[in-house]
Amino acid sequence: MNSGMNAQHNTVAAKNTMQLKAHPEYDQHEQVVIRDTPELRAIIAIHNSSLGVATGGCRIFPYPSIDEALTDVLRLSRGMTYKSAMAEINFGGGKSVIIADPAREKTESLLLAMGEFIDSLRGCYVAAEDSGTTVADIAVMARRTPHVSGIMSAEQHQGDPSPRTALGVFLGIEEAVRTRLGSSLPGITVGIQGAGNVGLHLARLLKQAGAEVLIADINVQRVESAVETLGLSTCSVDEILSAQVEVLAPCALGAVINPETVSSIRADIVAGGANNQLASEEMGEALHRRGILYVPDYVINAGGIIDIYYQRIGVRDTEKIESHLEIIPHNLAKIFAESVLQDRPTNHIADELARKKFLKPRLQSV
Ligand code: NAD
Repeated sequence: MNSGMNAQHNTVAAKNTMQLKAHPEYDQHEQVVIRDTPELRAIIAIHNSSLGVATGGCRIFPYPSIDEALTDVLRLSRGMTYKSAMAEINFGGGKSVIIADPAREKTESLLLAMGEFIDSLRGCYVAAEDSGTTVADIAVMARRTPHVSGIMSAEQHQGDPSPRTALGVFLGIEEAVRTRLGSSLPGITVGIQGAGNVGLHLARLLKQAGAEVLIADINVQRVESAVETLGLSTCSVDEILSAQVEVLAPCALGAVINPETVSSIRADIVAGGANNQLASEEMGEALHRRGILYVPDYVINAGGIIDIYYQRIGVRDTEKIESHLEIIPHNLAKIFAESVLQDRPTNHIADELARKKFLKPRLQSV
C-alpha cells in the first residue's frame, strides 16, 4: 500500500496509511494519491493491477469535501477492477476525481494540471473520460501525459466509449428480459433515468428493437429533444424509479437503489449503465428478496471499457470489438443461473466470479 509515496512534493496523502486502511471503501487499494494545491484538488486511486495497468475514467464533480471525493474514487476504482476482470481485458482498476464544478471551473489550466498529476504516476494509472469530462478534455490532458486513453480520432470513432457502453447495456437487457420474463423486447417498456450519452444511445437501440421507452432527466432540453428525435415517452424525475415498467435502466447517478427507493421499485428488472447503482451490498439482497432481477452494473456497463481497451491497443476492427461485447450477455447468463441455483443475490455471485479472475494471477505468483 502506497498512499502517495511516489508522488511529487505537492502531492499529499490526506490521511495517513492507517486511517486510509480503516476507510470503509478501502478494500486493499494498492495506491491512493491526493493532490491538494491551489491549481488542482484531485485524487487518483489504484485498486488492483494484477491484470494490467489500472485504467479508469477521470471524473469532475463539485464534491463538498475531500472525504466525499475519497469515498467516491475508492468505490469507483474498485468497480473498475471488477469490471475489467469480468470483461476479460488486461486492465487493472483505477479511477481519478477532480474536485471542481465542470460547468464553471473546468479550465485548460485545470486539465493541464491533471495531466501533470497523472504523469507523475509514471504510467501506473491511465485516464479516460467520465462524468464531467469529455474526449476533448482528455485530449488537453494528453498534452502533459501519454497515460490517457479514449481520444482516438478515427473517422467513425471520436474516442467516445458511450455508444459501446449503451450497446453492451442493450445486450444485457435482452438477456435479462429473456431470463426473467421469457420474452424478447417488443412489447416491453424500459424506463431510463438519464437522457445523457449512454441513456440516449440506449433509447435508440431499444426503440429500434421494438421496445417502448419512458425517459426522465433533470435537463428538460435533453428530454424534449429525445422526445422529438426518438419518439420517446417522458416521465418526471421523481417518478421514474417507481414507474410501472418491465425494466428500470439507471443511466444517470450512482446509489439510486437505496433504503429510501428500494421498496418503491415496481420494475421486474433493474439493468442500466450507471456505476455503483446499489448504495450498499444489502440493496442487492433487498431486490433479490423482492423477486426483482438486479443486473450487476459493472458487468452490464463494461462496453465502454472494452472500447477503451481496443483504442489503447490500436485495434479499430468493429466486428472484433462488437464480438467481444458478447461477453456481457454470456457473463450475465452465468450469473443469473447461479443466482437461481444458490438463491443468492446477483451482485454477490458477480463479485465472487470477478474476484476469482483478478485474484488468480496474484495467487499464482506467490
Ligand atoms: P452524462 O453526463 O452524459 O448523462 C447523465 C445524464 O443524467 C445527464 O443528462 C443528467 O442531466 C442526468 N441526470 C443527472 N441527475 C439526474 C436525476 N436525478 N434524474 C434524472 N436524470 C439525471 O453521462 P453518461 O456518459 O451518459 O453516463 C451515465 C452513467 O453511466 C454514469 O453513471 C456513468 O458513470 C456511467 N457510465 C458511463 C459510461 C460511458 O461510456 N459514458 C461507461 C460506464 C458507465
